[in-house]
Order: sequence, then C-alpha cells, then structure tokens
Amino acid sequence: MAASFSAELLPSPATIAVTPAVRLAYVLQHFRLAYEQVPPVEIGYGPAATVTVAEGAGRFFADATPYPAAPNWREWQGQRLPFFFDNSPEQELLTLTPRTARINVDVVAAAFYLLSGWQEYFSDTRDRHGRFPYAVSVQQQYQFVTLPIVNYYFEVLKTAIEHVTSQPLRPRRWNGTAPFVGFITHDIDNLHGGWGTAARYLLRRGRLGGLAKLLAGKAIGGPAPWNNLEQVQQATAQFGAPSTFFILGNNHPALNGTPNADYAPDTAQFRARLGRLAAQGAEIASHGSYGTADNVEKLQEEIRRFEPASVLGNRFHYLCWEPRRTPSVVAAAGVAYDSTLGFAEHFGFRNSYCLPFFPFDFTSGRAHSFLEIPLNVMDATLHHPNYLQLMPKDILPALRPMLAEIERFGGVATVLWHNENFDPVNTINGPHQFAELMDYLQQRGAAFRTGSQIVAELCQLVNA
Ligand SMILES: [Zn+2]
Repeated sequence: MAASFSAELLPSPATIAVTPAVRLAYVLQHFRLAYEQVPPVEIGYGPAATVTVAEGAGRFFADATPYPAAPNWREWQGQRLPFFFDNSPEQELLTLTPRTARINVDVVAAAFYLLSGWQEYFSDTRDRHGRFPYAVSVQQQYQFVTLPIVNYYFEVLKTAIEHVTSQPLRPRRWNGTAPFVGFITHDIDNLHGGWGTAARYLLRRGRLGGLAKLLAGKAIGGPAPWNNLEQVQQATAQFGAPSTFFILGNNHPALNGTPNADYAPDTAQFRARLGRLAAQGAEIASHGSYGTADNVEKLQEEIRRFEPASVLGNRFHYLCWEPRRTPSVVAAAGVAYDSTLGFAEHFGFRNSYCLPFFPFDFTSGRAHSFLEIPLNVMDATLHHPNYLQLMPKDILPALRPMLAEIERFGGVATVLWHNENFDPVNTINGPHQFAELMDYLQQRGAAFRTGSQIVAELCQLVNA
C-alpha cells in the first residue's frame, strides 16, 4: 500500500551561500532566546572579538554534503559530548585570559549544523513515507539522540561570556518560575476503531459480561472505544495539564492508500464537540493530512475548514516532513508553530535542541518566522514492530534521562500520546504509562502549556 520512495522526486537543494556570518547570526539569535539579558559582547571569528571562536568548518558549508568529519569527544561538566568541527583536539575547550575568551572548537558551526537540520536537507535518503530516517542520522551514528548537544554548545558560549563580563547568565524561566515546560499533545487519527482490540482483550480475560456489553453497544451504534476525546482531556487535566489536539482536516486516504482521518472532520456536530474541548482549556490545532507536507494549498484548505475558529499550530500526520520543502509550506500556511520534528524511530532530539526554535530557511539564509516546538516522545515509538520494543515497566526509566536534560536547560518536553492509547486495553504504551510519565513531569515541577501558550510566552521574550 505504501508508496516506495524515489530520490529522483526530491526537489534540488537551494544553493545559497551559508557564510560564517549567516551561521553566526542564526546561532546567536537562538542563544539570545535561551538566556536572560545576554550582554552585547562581541562574539566572532575575528581577532578583535571579545569571545573568539576558532574557525573549524573549512569548506564544509560550501560543499553541500550531508555529513561532516566524525566529532571529537570531550568532557564538559562531567558529560562526554561530541564536538563537530574540532580541529585542535589537543587544545583545551576554553582558553580564558583576563577580559577575553577563546573557544578552541567551532561550536558556532557545530550548533548551526545540528539546529538547521543540515544533514537532512542535503541527504538524499528518505524512508517509505518520504521522511529522513533516524538510521542515517549523526544522532544514530554517534549515539547522541537523547542529548541536546546544541544546548551544551550554548553552555560553552555562556561560560565564555560570563568570564568576560563577570556576570552570571541565567536560562530563561517560564513565567519567571517553572524550571521547564510540558507540552502534552494528541494526534487524532481514529475515533471509530477499537472494537476488535477491546473484544479480544475481554475474551482473553474471560470477561464475557463485559464482552456482551461491548457488542450490545456496537449493535445499537454506540460510541467506539476510541471515540474518547473527552476522556483524553480528563486524563491529562488530572495532572494540571491542558491538551493540545491535532485534528485531521481530511478523511480521504492519500493517493498511495495511506489512511487519513477515520472521522468526518467538518460536520457541525464534530465542530461543536471541538468547541466544547476548547472551552475546557484544550487547544485545537491542525494535523496536516498525508500529502500536505509538500503542498501548501492543500494544507491551507484544511486549516480553513476550522473557521471561524483560528488554528495556530500544525503537526503533520505520520510526522511527514520534506526538509527541502516543508518549512516553506508551514511558513506560507500562516500558522505560528509546528511540532512535527522528532524521529518516529527514537525518542530524543532530532535537531539536538530542547527549546522551540525558528527553522533555518535555506533559500533566504535566515530564520523562518514560525516556531518549531520539537517533538521528543511519541507513544508509538516506545513499542512498535518498526521502532523500539520497550517493556511497559521500562518506559519511564528509558525516558527519564532525556527529560532530565530538558529540565536542566529549561526546555520544552513535547509528548505525543494518541487517543487510542488512552484505551485501558492497551497495557503496553497505554493510559498507565502515560500517567506515569505525567506524574514524573508534575513531580519535577513542569509548567504545562498548550502550543500557542508556548509561542505567546516566547514571542513576549523576543519582543522584550
Ligand atoms: Zn496522525
């Protein structure tokens, strides 16, 4: 059913010159968003800069190849970290002299490489859904997908700036207090399924009374087990968190047979239901259907279907994302944020960064104006024939180190838990594992936000 993917269909990469100045501007734009009141210290490659960075990229960014030389591993505050563009492994990382600092690794080039998604933009490899595969990523090759390396590079830069100014730099605090944020999201693909799984579950346990009740419900046209948006909202609200629902705007299968919604997205009844969820504090956002990640007209048409409600965010169904096209599609569709960028195959950091960021526009050499709120963990990733096969008891322990990294850097922990996995018959990556994860986030003091609340808070910072 699924289309085989052909690299000949890939659009050609843009040929803009990504100069050191372009890279520095993009990286510093994000650095200033990550810390409070960054003083106007001159940071650059030239000898006149107060914080000097060793130029280490050579011709790499002129050659448009996906992968740089292997990183050099260095110890930083008890953590072993990969440093790309490190041409002087024998030198210390930081040389501090009175009033100046020199960083002996090109952390600006390395941060740009990872944050811009350079590897996927210039790679020709895609999976059967047209996605850049985790298997060919530097995160997989050097095993650092659960470390937000760019945030660590920023910490090196921060240390250099603190040295030359003798003033501490503090990470941004959410609303002034919370150490980090939880962004709890649900992609809604199926509302009418779950009968078969429920029946098999009850049968296996010999619960024949329950089975009879289930079948009677089906016979009279009662709601399917997965028709549970209100229960999803309640299960999330129990932890003080608002839900962000990504709703498909298309119930026709894609040309290659890939299913989209199993529900009619624009009946008055369904719209009213979404309105009630929103009135209870949920956010309704767009789940761009299969085929919209490279088609702005189709995505816009789906977003318009939500009118008069305004939709501020999007995540693509199947996490579809064509690096050479999708950022421009999202920008042109006019949403304020996207939250597609995570690897389906592994939890962690696809751009090695744990804060929202403005995706790099390879055609203009500047940042796009929409925010990407990167996706860190999807329920399906944790237990799936094609992805990981974690035992239920191993899920939270596997995620905890990654969540601790997000907390350390004051980032956003984005969780995707589909509505069908709130069905109690799922005992593997189901409601119980979701509750364990939520309990952990709550215990650690996360502030829970919807996508548009995250954008609003960050934009206040940008304009402050
Ligand atoms: Zn989906």
